[in-house]
This record gives sequence, C-alpha cells and structure tokens, in this order.
Amino acid sequence: MAKHSTSILNADSMGFIKRYLDNVSAVGHEVKGQRIWLNYVKPYIEHSFSDTYGTAVGVINPKASYKVVIEAHADEIAWYVKYITDDGFIYVCKNGMSDHQIAPSMRVHLHTKSKGIVQGVFGWPAIHTRIEKEQPIPDPSKLWIDVGAKSKQEVYDLGIRVGTICTYADSFEIMNNDYWTARAFDNRIGGVIIAEVARLLTNSNAKLPFGLYLVNSVQEEVGMFGAGMIVESIEPDLAICTDVTHDTNTPMMNKNMDGDVSCGKGPVLNIAPSVHTKLFDFIEEVAVKHKIPYQLEVTSNETGTDTDAFAYGNCGVPSALISLPLRYMHTSVETICKSDVEQTIQLIYEVILALSPATNYHYF
Ligand SMILES: [Zn+2]
Repeated sequence: MAKHSTSILNADSMGFIKRYLDNVSAVGHEVKGQRIWLNYVKPYIEHSFSDTYGTAVGVINPKASYKVVIEAHADEIAWYVKYITDDGFIYVCKNGMSDHQIAPSMRVHLHTKSKGIVQGVFGWPAIHTRIEKEQPIPDPSKLWIDVGAKSKQEVYDLGIRVGTICTYADSFEIMNNDYWTARAFDNRIGGVIIAEVARLLTNSNAKLPFGLYLVNSVQEEVGMFGAGMIVESIEPDLAICTDVTHDTNTPMMNKNMDGDVSCGKGPVLNIAPSVHTKLFDFIEEVAVKHKIPYQLEVTSNETGTDTDAFAYGNCGVPSALISLPLRYMHTSVETICKSDVEQTIQLIYEVILALSPATNYHYF
C-alpha cells in the first residue's frame, strides 16, 4: 500500500460510512448498526459471532491460538422518554452522557417500536419572554420535547411511551472536502477504521500468524460494559482499542488540562497506566518506520475508554489506545478530519502486519 495514500477510503467505504453514521445506535439499542457493520465487514472476515448484549465480532484466521483484538465501540449517546404530561409534553433523561446545554431548539427523532421514527423538537422559551435577570439554564430535568401532540393520549397514539429512545436528527455531512461532521462519530468512526483495516488486509492477501478479532463493542458510553463482557469470552492475548479524543485547538478548550491535540495532525497515541509500555513503544516504532504522522496524549489514571476494560480484563491483556482527534465531542456536530481517519487505518494496518505472537509482554 502506498505510504500517505489519500485514497484509502473508496466509494464503497464512503457509502458504508454514511449508512453507518446516519443509522441510530443508542446505548442498549445497537443491533441495527451492528448488522450494517457486520454486513460491510463480511467479505473481509472468515467467521463472526455476537454476545447476548450485541457486541459484534468478526474474525480473520479464527483457528489460530494467539488472539489479537482491534476494537471500537458501536453505541451512541441518546435520551430516554421519562415522563409525559397530560397536555402532551415529554420530559427526558439521559442515555449516556448527552449534553443538555446544546439540547434547546434541536430537532429530535423519537424511535418508536410500533410507528417508526416520530419527529420532535426540544422546546425553549422565546428570548422576548425571558426575564433579563432570570435567564433559563438548560437543566436536564427541565428540558422537554414537543411532538405536536395536545394530550398524553395523542403522544401514546404516536407510539411513544416511557423508555422510547430519542436522538438528534443530524446526519453525516462533508465540509470543505477534508472535514466531516456527524452526530456520534464517537466512536462509530472506530468501527469504520477497524472495518477498513480488515478490507486492506484482505486486499493485500495478508497471511496473519494469529487470529485477528474485529470487535465492535456495545455500551461503552455508560461504563465500558460491552468491552468488559467480550474480553472474558474472547480471552485475547493483545488488544488495540480505538476511540475519539478532544481536538484542543478550537476556541474555549484548555490545553493545560487536556493536552495539545489537533485535527489534521494524525492519529493520537495514548499514554496511560492501562496502556502497555511495550506495546505502545512497538506502535510508535511502526508509525516512525512508515512515516505516519502521530500525536501524543497522556491520561492520568483511567483512559475512560474500552482500553481499560481490555487491559484489566481476563487477568490482564496487553492493550493500547489509538485515538482519532475530534471536535465538539457529544454534540450533534462532532467534527473530524478525513486524513486522520486514513492515517489511523494505515497505522493499525501496518501494526497488524508487523505484530508477532512471539513477543513476550511479561516483564520478568
Ligand atoms: Zn463518548
């Protein structure tokens, strides 16, 4: 594969990205997205399975005893319907760490079992009616959704009930060629990245000396639970996780707190207690050797990603975290740079080709 290729993603990849990103995959409701993902990776894997909560796994070389995981999480943050008033307004609670500050005046989709998607909006009092000294703050307990219903019964008649999932209506868009914006790249773009690695491996006829497990975990946004479950059933020897991380070069970000990361400067190698030093060094060497640009980020204590679940699961799995820089995390306009996506795919691809099951990750 050509170095610094700017054409890793082809028309098929772009079709998959739009399909996968525009689909809804709320925490606990990931199955439809998992089917889209599995369908796309199917030509590039030999075996697939899932667990009872919906984590999907595609395997290359499934008979090998040494097992390497490359991982992403499939779930997205959302809202639940919590309470419906007699006059037809809907109060909500968070499913994952949704940002209540951005909710007022957003369009939402309510995903009903019986009537499909119902359109709604987060309401907000008009600026003219607000008292200067008492500006309302978007408090999660005060936010409401209006679906144009006059009564609780009309809301029920639309198929909405307590527990109905609500998501922002925003979809995948390209901005100025190189930047992409969408609801919840976090971390469905990781699912795209590991799928593309599998495609490149198939296209290059790579023969791996280990089993490669593409893992698309559920329920990361509420506590890394999907990864925590699947690490016990796969029992991997090594795991490379993907997630998104904050671009700190947009206004109002704080580099003192969150480090110096930029969209357009390549994948981010994370340094943290759960990241195995030897594996980190190996990945960095591969990046240098193949002249793939990369950035460094350090996290004290937990990374807050599925990496922790893999690292500390199954009696300790040597793990690493490769992140994609992302602007405006947990908003409806998460923004990423295409070249970062392609360089992350390239880095993981080169790491997989260079990995050896003979490497000893024990220190003594
Ligand atoms: Zn997240």
